[in-house]
Amino acid sequence: MADDPKQNDAPKKKGDSKAKAEQDQAEPTEKKQGRLSRLRFSKKKDMPGGLWLKCESCSEVIFRKELEEKGRVCPSCGFHFTVPGRERIAMVLDEGTWREQFAEIEALDRLNFIDSTPYSEKIARTVKRTGQNEALLCGFGEVLGKPIVLAILDFGFMGGSMGEVVGEKLALAIELAIRDRRPFVVFTSSGGARMHEGVLSLMQMAKTCAALKKLNDVGGFSICVMTHPTTGGVTASFASVTDIVLAEPGALIGFAGPRVIATTLKQELPAGFQRAEFLLDRGMIDNIVARDKMRETIARLLDYVDEAPYESAAAAVRHA
Ligand SMILES: [Zn+2]
Repeated sequence: MADDPKQNDAPKKKGDSKAKAEQDQAEPTEKKQGRLSRLRFSKKKDMPGGLWLKCESCSEVIFRKELEEKGRVCPSCGFHFTVPGRERIAMVLDEGTWREQFAEIEALDRLNFIDSTPYSEKIARTVKRTGQNEALLCGFGEVLGKPIVLAILDFGFMGGSMGEVVGEKLALAIELAIRDRRPFVVFTSSGGARMHEGVLSLMQMAKTCAALKKLNDVGGFSICVMTHPTTGGVTASFASVTDIVLAEPGALIGFAGPRVIATTLKQELPAGFQRAEFLLDRGMIDNIVARDKMRETIARLLDYVDEAPYESAAAAVRHA
């Protein structure tokens, strides 16, 4: 469970432990133990990241194991929690069909960017914690026997943010789809462009869209599934321009956050603003698909694809 980003690197925790260490030095042992037991008690009451967690939609307290067994769907309200990348692969693909590609490509700190800590340190820490080199996982796989190229943007790796490597891997994955004439399927969960890489991360918006355009030109087929949360430069680029755009129920999908918009417009936002259902109503996405129906839905959509369009579209491009 180390990959739940909300529980990790919380600055509050850091400050607490520092303050605690300072106080620990100053206090005699008996007093310290009394205070420690009180601390443990209050910790239990807040239930941070342990056995229990609070549903962010209905506020119901859920047993973590039960949530995991139900595919991270809230047993009380059906809210679809963010799924770690590797778990998503297992959920979507037929067992034993995953062949990961480009896993070795690592992020670079070209700008020597430092906020609270140097970006290079942050990457190193995240790589160590997650066991993967970047936020995007991509490779070959099959859904109910149908071959695809799959890409997953993992929120557990720096909020699924899109930097140079995410853009590069996505473009490479799309090129594999073109080369092998496989449909391209991508699942997104992202905070948007990776600010640590400055303008280089914004360039990935154009790059990924250009790659999808290339796929489109040769008659390829692409599906994006936006999951909670998909925001910023990811929503504003490749995630919105695939042939089919699906979303999971209740997923937050938008560009800027609701608070920023409300402050800028000086208006109250409508109920359900930026949720998948709201966007379906307004034609921004094609459909909402529950997690337990995702595999069969993707497989059904893939039924519409055969190799013929690739051939004719490629010929059309050549003769243009
Ligand atoms: Zn719930």
